[in-house]
Amino acid sequence: MSLDYIRAGTTEDAIAALIRGGDDAKVVAGGTALVLMLQEGFIAPRYLVDIGRIAALGGIRDVGDAVIIGATTTLWQVMTSPLVGRRLPVLVGALGRVATVRIRSVATLGGNLAHGDPRLDPAAVLLALDASVRLAGPDGERWLGLEELFVDELTTAIGPAELVVEIRIPYPDPSSRLTYRKLVGQTMDDYGVVNVAARLDVDDGRCRDARLVLGAVAATPIRVPAAEAVLRGAGIGPAVIAQAAELAREAADPVGDLRGSAGYKCDMVVVEVRRALTELASGPGGPATPAGRWSDS
Ligand SMILES: Cc1cc2nc3c(=O)[nH]c(=O)nc-3n(C[C@H](O)[C@H](O)[C@H](O)COP(=O)(O)OP(=O)(O)OC[C@H]3O[C@@H](n4cnc5c(N)ncnc54)[C@H](O)[C@@H]3O)c2cc1C
Repeated sequence: MSLDYIRAGTTEDAIAALIRGGDDAKVVAGGTALVLMLQEGFIAPRYLVDIGRIAALGGIRDVGDAVIIGATTTLWQVMTSPLVGRRLPVLVGALGRVATVRIRSVATLGGNLAHGDPRLDPAAVLLALDASVRLAGPDGERWLGLEELFVDELTTAIGPAELVVEIRIPYPDPSSRLTYRKLVGQTMDDYGVVNVAARLDVDDGRCRDARLVLGAVAATPIRVPAAEAVLRGAGIGPAVIAQAAELAREAADPVGDLRGSAGYKCDMVVVEVRRALTELASGPGGPATPAGRWSDS
């Protein structure tokens, strides 16, 4: 079957091409995930709508209380942005754990979120940061929080002719301590066995608010509200950390695969959550920690 390639010049052109192509059309941005799906026969579109050259979908800008990142901005552009480095070092650390420099140089942030794979590194950390996406489609524009975006494995709430246009990431409060951990079983550029993003907002030694997000151990990246409730209002010591880690284990629902059995992954959830919260109990966390440091592999 033939595959038509359409290079859209504007967001409107892209949406019009997607409407015309219907179920046979697919968006391509960096193509790192899409080409694999094509090669493996998971998808067989007749039209590929390339949004990579739409100028309005790129760029990084400061809007006072948040950064707005255009959907086609590459992971490399995000992680080398001085603004992001200054205001969101935990995101830089998480992006540095995505695959290799070659992938990071072409993979886009919008494509990452739209892919809807539960193992994706940016997704977990952006959930902990309360990020949201702006979508544009045939019925206009709308904003969606990331929790509403991820519906099921490789399934998002993005409509058939909708595009992720930009990602809004609020700047964390000065009291926020953040970390991202990714346990890999094989090579450093592999997908995680367990990913953990944690945020504690700490005042006078007590946790005012918390986010605990697990990646790779359920059909979508998930928050663990029961653990967040235990952390909220507490002084962060070993007993509270152990309780939160057990609650995270209960929330996880991994499948066994070549990276480990379901039981092993549940055990590693406990270990990684404990490590993440212990790190945050003693300091601000961020990319200077070994788990968050990125390399040029
Ligand atoms: C070898 C390899 C290793 C990888 N390792 C990791 C890893 O460790 N961690 C990690 O997080 N990711 C990893 N990935 C996944 C991949 O790099 C990311 O998901 C990437 O960010 C996808 O971005 P992209 O621009 O290439 O998306 P594409 O491949 O172009 O698209 C991905 C999906 O999103 C849709 N899409 C793209 N952009 C938009 C948009 N703006 N609006 C609506 N839909 C859109 C496409 O139709 C497609 O369904 C890996 C990929 C490969 C090939």
